[in-house]
Amino acid sequence: MSAKAKSYDNAMTREELCRLAIQGLSKSYAPYSGYYVSAALEDSEGNITTGCNIENASYTPTVCAERTAFFSAVAHRKGDTLPHFVRMAVVGGNHGEVTGAFPPCGVCRQVMSEFCDDSFEILVVQSVEPLTYDTFTLPALLPLRFGPSHLSKKGQ
Ligand SMILES: [Zn+2]
Repeated sequence: MSAKAKSYDNAMTREELCRLAIQGLSKSYAPYSGYYVSAALEDSEGNITTGCNIENASYTPTVCAERTAFFSAVAHRKGDTLPHFVRMAVVGGNHGEVTGAFPPCGVCRQVMSEFCDDSFEILVVQSVEPLTYDTFTLPALLPLRFGPSHLSKKGQ
């Protein structure tokens, strides 16, 4: 068994990842919409990176929780190799009260397409108590996606 495989044996369960995302709702900075969103991203080494939505008074610089998590994970990766991301839990609600699904927006799905393969799972939390969530693959949420492979042949 490789070290990589061993560490992944210690991976969180899907429920634990959802619970981490739920805990992160309190970090949201959403003074304008009041909608708190949180995401927890897991890579194949068992590393977890959380993210929250961060709004801005001029609106357009606002960033979603999912992108905050991805950009943080990429910025803080060890070495030059990108992590292999395996799944992300996403949760949201008005002032942190979860009353239904907050699926990733189209821009976040495109960011997932940049860093994830077809096996990547998105866990969309529906309720906290009891914990319920739906699991989607990236191809289900972004069919016919545009990704790095479309540009990698250029210049070769
Ligand atoms: Zn988004």
